[in-house]
Amino acid sequence: MARASHKLAQARRLELPDAQRIDGAGGYLAPAFIDLHVHGGHGFDTMDATPEALRGMARFLAAHGVANFLATTVTASREAITAALRNIAECIGAQPDGATLLGAHLEGPYINVKARGAQPAEHVRLAAPAEYAEWLALTLNAIRQVIVAPEFEANVAFMAACAERGILISIGHTQASYEQALDAVRRGARQTTHTFNAMTGLHHRALGVVGAALTCDLLTCELIADNHHVHPAVMALLVRLKGAQGVIAVTDAIRAAGMSEGQSELGGQIVYVRSGKATLSDGTLAGSLLTMDAALRNLQAATGLGVEALMPIFSANAARQLGLAHRKGSLRVGYDADLVLLDSALRVQMTFAEGRPIYQRRT
Ligand SMILES: [Zn+2]
Repeated sequence: MARASHKLAQARRLELPDAQRIDGAGGYLAPAFIDLHVHGGHGFDTMDATPEALRGMARFLAAHGVANFLATTVTASREAITAALRNIAECIGAQPDGATLLGAHLEGPYINVKARGAQPAEHVRLAAPAEYAEWLALTLNAIRQVIVAPEFEANVAFMAACAERGILISIGHTQASYEQALDAVRRGARQTTHTFNAMTGLHHRALGVVGAALTCDLLTCELIADNHHVHPAVMALLVRLKGAQGVIAVTDAIRAAGMSEGQSELGGQIVYVRSGKATLSDGTLAGSLLTMDAALRNLQAATGLGVEALMPIFSANAARQLGLAHRKGSLRVGYDADLVLLDSALRVQMTFAEGRPIYQRRT
């Protein structure tokens, strides 16, 4: 993370013959954002299971500073999840004029129905070896992250299969106790999903998953910084307790993100979009309309921290969690040139994926 003018001065010193000179105009050049948890955007959704949907999402994300993402599934039938995973496996990699698809993030179906949030109850189930063995095998390592409720014995076996393959295990949609959450960490879990949402809260004698998330250094906490899922004061509290290395901003955005308000869809359910929020008919939050650049602005306002201090939350930590810290998430020689140029108001001006311009703001 550096002032753009400084990076330009460095580029001039390198005197690359085919280099293009870009005026950063006093903004910021930062590692492009990585979104580990995004269902959709601009009318598209991972569960559409088409290359067009993933390309549409990739273009929408690029316009908001994201150069890498995991397409995230929802709790659904075996057939629907299989189709989505197959499509991701076939489309993995660079997308035209869009962010790079790093792989799949499996949200559900192996969660706790009592903490389902907006995941459809009828498809929530215990982990079944025949089902997940097929998903792990047929998608040729496309699955990079899973969300699991660790309080069920059947799900513990699923966690073992994921840990064996180096898949990032996140605790979420769960009613696990503090002790069960720590046991999941011993079994390889390293993250908490949309922390504070759809999990056991903090009580001073019953710490719950939130207590484990806040006190266990091995757990990195996802945060939806949209000011709706978590109060801004608690967003600041999380960053203060975990440090900038211990939090990962995610959008959890759905197909309604970037669209006009009204009705939309998530997991086959009607979603109502009003006042910057997406909810089911009973008022349950149903993903978000958040973009990563807005999350950065929100988190800066909530914490009062500088952009440079917050930047690991938007890129380096996600790269580390996926085992990609050796080539993504930082501005270093030899790393992928995944870059975002922000103006001084933290609006995205340009986004690059591996040196390719994938978005330029038209003004
Ligand atoms: Zn969720």
